[in-house]
Amino acid sequence: MPTQAPTFGDILVLGLGKTGVDVARYLVKRAKSVTLYGGLASHEGPLVDELRALGVHVVLGTEDIEGSYDFAVVSPGISEHSAFFAAAREHAAEVMGEPEFAFRQSPERWLAITGTNGKTTTTALTADLLQAGGLNARAVGNIGTLITGVLDERGADEWFVAELSSYQIATTTQLHPRAACLLNVTPDHLSWHGSMEAYALAKEQVFQNFTTSDLAVVSVDDDWCRACVARLEARGLRVCHLTTTQDPGTLCAAFPRDGRLIVRLDGKEHELCAIDELSIKGEHNVQNALAAAALALVAGVSDEGVCKGLIAFQALEHRIEPCGELDGVRFVNDSKATNTDSVEKALTAFAPGTVVLLLGGKDKGTDLTTLMDAAAATCHALVCFGAAGPRMLEAAKAACGKEGPAVVSAEHLEDALDAGIALARPGDVVLLSPACASFDEFHSFEERGVVFKQLVAERIAAAGERA
Ligand code: ADP
Repeated sequence: MPTQAPTFGDILVLGLGKTGVDVARYLVKRAKSVTLYGGLASHEGPLVDELRALGVHVVLGTEDIEGSYDFAVVSPGISEHSAFFAAAREHAAEVMGEPEFAFRQSPERWLAITGTNGKTTTTALTADLLQAGGLNARAVGNIGTLITGVLDERGADEWFVAELSSYQIATTTQLHPRAACLLNVTPDHLSWHGSMEAYALAKEQVFQNFTTSDLAVVSVDDDWCRACVARLEARGLRVCHLTTTQDPGTLCAAFPRDGRLIVRLDGKEHELCAIDELSIKGEHNVQNALAAAALALVAGVSDEGVCKGLIAFQALEHRIEPCGELDGVRFVNDSKATNTDSVEKALTAFAPGTVVLLLGGKDKGTDLTTLMDAAAATCHALVCFGAAGPRMLEAAKAACGKEGPAVVSAEHLEDALDAGIALARPGDVVLLSPACASFDEFHSFEERGVVFKQLVAERIAAAGERA
């Protein structure tokens, strides 16, 4: 309990994961009271003991909230459409997610990044560009750093580059970054938001408090984002049209021209590095680099700083991450590609006809047509594995036909890797870019990626021993 007069009144926290626990820890020093509801599946344990020792009132095994609260902070795993969330609304004057709470405590110098794919890469890259330009910056949010957890140590001049998921944005009202980017909107997470419209609109909410002095960086390469651009421009806002195709001709734009990255802000062009100088490959990474560059320029980084940071940036783990070579066959871990669009983009990072693609895992049930058409056009072979394997196999066979790439099935990731090695020729790439969640075989995409890299390392070591 606070030693001085509390800043906050009676606060409700929902969820016993990292977010709920860290928010409760932060608030218990500053609020009159903190009550944390863990939810139906929550149970006693050392963490609960620790929270109770700090003075948090912890309620387990129920979603029936009692009492009345000044506000509630809800963990991102709890859907806005759930009974638990509704109960919070009934018992608290205001309900918000953790980024909204953190923003209200420390609202200066925020940049925000959202989209279906590319958030983490763009967030890490933007923070790097700011640092390359001599600014103090920290990547926070969905990237793995809880914002509330670093509020106490935030420097006076520090920028927050926040990766925000649609879940997190859905629970904001005052959030107002200086500039924000919407990279793309493609089907994913529909069970949480209820519909594609709700999912797209949740992302667009990142611009809800924008004024004419802010900059919205928004893709014009997909229909949902284009609709968003039209709505933002109807509000009179400054929108930087982000595209991987050609100069959109607008006053603010980010696009490739003659193999270079160009950002134009209010008519002033910044000619940045060449695409070939980037070590992150693929059309999607051109988009990520352009978006990050636009945000960094708005924050005040020089063209030189942006170029230096862009050239130095390396692929993050599990995102088109090279992880070995055997007999002229390269192995690449893209375990983070958990939906179809990210796989389509990953395929653009390799020469046509050279990819042996490992697809499968826990099925998300999304339509496979465009993915399989792209795979049929660009892969050497496809290996479908895991719980989604049979559906993938059927769709792959339909797209590839008799003349197209070979299509085979495998039980698990390990069998899929071996099937992939058997199909690969020197010069090919065995790419794990599964288009599925990992939970049929693993706890997380990270675990799947680590196991893949270990299996690859074992194959390489075994070949070395034989030689
Ligand atoms: P997120 O944090 O949004 O999941 P990541 O940066 O972790 O995004 O990338 C996840 C996967 O999505 C990558 O492995 C890559 O295959 C793909 N990807 C990355 N950037 C983009 C983009 N701009 N558009 C589409 N797909 C992308």
